[in-house]
Amino acid sequence: MRYFDVLILGGGPAGLTAGLYAGRALLKTAVIERGVWGGQMATTEDIENYPGFPNGGVTGPGLSELMRQQTAEFGTELIIDEIEEVKAVDEGFAAKGYDDTYVGRALIIATGASPRQLGAKGEDDFRGRGVSYCATCDGPFYKDKEIVIVGGGDSAVDEALYMTRFAKAITIIHRRDELRAEKIMQERAFKEPKIKFLWSHVVEEIKGNGEVRAVQVRNLKTGQASDFPTQGVFVYVGMNPNTGLVQELVKLNAGGYVCTERDGSTSRAGVFAAGDVDNVRLRQVTNSVGMGAVAATSAIRYLEELDFARAEAVQRSK
Ligand code: NAP
Repeated sequence: MRYFDVLILGGGPAGLTAGLYAGRALLKTAVIERGVWGGQMATTEDIENYPGFPNGGVTGPGLSELMRQQTAEFGTELIIDEIEEVKAVDEGFAAKGYDDTYVGRALIIATGASPRQLGAKGEDDFRGRGVSYCATCDGPFYKDKEIVIVGGGDSAVDEALYMTRFAKAITIIHRRDELRAEKIMQERAFKEPKIKFLWSHVVEEIKGNGEVRAVQVRNLKTGQASDFPTQGVFVYVGMNPNTGLVQELVKLNAGGYVCTERDGSTSRAGVFAAGDVDNVRLRQVTNSVGMGAVAATSAIRYLEELDFARAEAVQRSK
């Protein structure tokens, strides 16, 4: 069992920033990450809307490593472990991992969100064999191939643009006839000769024989189904919050995101949340960083008040 003042779950921009703030406040702090430092940021090729990096921005892995280093510089422990249970205990909050159990007097939930599945027939069968949720990870496997990208948000358009360096042809299949993505990204996609659009269609099935050969699509305007030949399917239809571990601990909204106040506090005293796991509208690195700072500052204040109250109680009992 290892004890900390502030325990932070998740090592993306929100968790790393919270770790930086709590470490810099000289609190014994740990950030626990199950995968890669930087989270979704680390699987993003280029980030051009994070301030401080003019002339084309910064790479996702590059910014992740800079944030990791800076957090470690303030004495915060960066631990790789997969947490399987989180619960309230007398000392605060205990997170049981594979390697150890970590206890924090305050807890910051920064576990982010994961790509949502499409729910199409065949999606699970072809996962990792023609169906992908991460262009940055799998892009090179699709060199000179024809692929489809499902979705119409920032992720779909971002990743379609990224895939132009590998794929021969890209079709974005979107259920409406208008993209949700930022206008600047839309304009870039419309200008890119390799990217075509299949509007008002949904993917119902992924077909193939060992490898993906086609998607069965349905035209939502005519109701007609047809096969659209493709060699790969990239799914970007939104995210699901990673809140399974804390659903008994704090209040979640209908979408499963953690309900918070503006100071990052949750329905349970001593537990704070930041980043994509929180019920926010803007899911970008800039915002996650700010939310991490706010949650850590609130956790620091919570611990100060806890210590003050305890000292007073001891004084009174004398
Ligand atoms: P998103 O903004 O929620 O977009 C999801 C897209 O998938 C929407 O176009 C949606 O269609 C479509 N969709 C949802 N369910 C579907 C289904 N069952 N079948 C077909 N299509 C479906 O998700 P995201 O693009 O992953 O982005 C997540 C968050 O990260 C957003 O807040 C985004 O701004 C942020 N982000 C930002 C950047 C950036 O700033 N460059 C990059 C990546 C992500 P409708 O439009 O019809 O709802």
